[in-house]
Amino acid sequence: MTTETRAFNAASFFAYLKEGQLMGVRCRTCGKLSAEARPMCQDCHSRDVEWFAFSGRGQLSAFTCISVVPNAMGEKGFGRNNPYCSGIVALEEGPRISALILGVDAANPQNIATGLALTLQVEDQDKDRPTLAFVPA
Ligand SMILES: [Zn+2]
Repeated sequence: MTTETRAFNAASFFAYLKEGQLMGVRCRTCGKLSAEARPMCQDCHSRDVEWFAFSGRGQLSAFTCISVVPNAMGEKGFGRNNPYCSGIVALEEGPRISALILGVDAANPQNIATGLALTLQVEDQDKDRPTLAFVPA
C-alpha cells in the first residue's frame, strides 16, 4: 500500500489503474464506498475520505454491445466488424462501475449473460490512455 495521498480525481484513478490497482474512495465518516474518485462522500457529504483498494472481482450487472463506435474505440481496433462490449460491473464490495468487457463474444451478445463472474484486466494497458476493463474470471 502506498502512504502518499493522491488527489481524489480521475487522473489519480487512472494512475492507479496503470499500476494494476482498482482504487475507489471510502468515507471515513459513514463508511460508504464509491468506485468514483471524488473528494466528497456522495451519501453524507463528508470530505473525510480515503483511498480504498477494490479486489477487482465482480459480476456483470448489465451490458450492451456496440458496433458503431466512437473515434477513441475505433483507434483501438473496434468497429462494425469487431464490436465491443460495454458493461456495468457490480464489484464484490458493492459499488457498480462502467467498464469495457473483454474476452466475451461481442458479435454474439446472446451468448453473454448477466451474472458472469469478472476480474479486472490489468495486462496490456495502454500507457497513454488506460482503460478500465474486465475479463471473465
Ligand atoms: Zn459518508
